[in-house]
Amino acid sequence: MAISRDDTLNWIKACAVVIAENRDTLVELDSAIGDADHGANMHRGFQAVLGKLPELAEQDIGTILKSAGMTLVSTVGGASGPLYGTLFLQAGMPLMGKMEMNLDDWVAALEAAVKGVMQRGKAQAGEKTMLDALLPALDSLKQSQAAGEPLATALVLSAQAAEKGMQATIPMIARKGRASYLGERSAGHQDPGATSSYLLIKTAAATWAAG
Ligand code: ADP
Ligand code: MG
Repeated sequence: MAISRDDTLNWIKACAVVIAENRDTLVELDSAIGDADHGANMHRGFQAVLGKLPELAEQDIGTILKSAGMTLVSTVGGASGPLYGTLFLQAGMPLMGKMEMNLDDWVAALEAAVKGVMQRGKAQAGEKTMLDALLPALDSLKQSQAAGEPLATALVLSAQAAEKGMQATIPMIARKGRASYLGERSAGHQDPGATSSYLLIKTAAATWAAG
């Protein structure tokens, strides 16, 4: 089983739907420890990405992801705009010219993406950010790769790891971004960016592991 260019486009479309459905939840989470705009930011970004997809129908996977990243940078705004932009842009780099990807390709893409976010945001694991969902998802994918798991299993396990990582942000004290201004008062709330990152990873599993 491999993930095709059409599967990639379907993932992005499904992400736009899932972000729209969770817009209010993301706003609520951000209202507790931020400025209540994360849901609106992400929704605006993914609607703009949707608008670009018709131009990308014939492109390779790397070009599709890179274009999504550029659109997210210019439309999401906030701290998360450049970070999600970087995530998609960097994910596209190892996939330039590819019309389909296997587990090795997806691991390489997510690894490049996560590294890009870490460099851009200068954040590490445990600082209550989107990385706390993304890093466990990447670690899980690498474990599956080493264990020779099929792609579908690897995707489902990585979504479960992202979910646990998202939940683990609740007791954390934010060290980066707006939530860090709250110091210890940021504890007890789930991080909005970790939540949106989990949703994207979960949607990848839902879109690609079913096919
Ligand atoms: P803003 O904080 O500018 O209002 P958003 O509300 O859209 O932007 O996004 C907030 C999310 O961005 C946080 O929940 C966190 O996950 C993520 N974030 C903030 N700063 C960083 C960083 N330096 N590295 C990684 N993620 C970050
Ligand atoms: Mg915000």
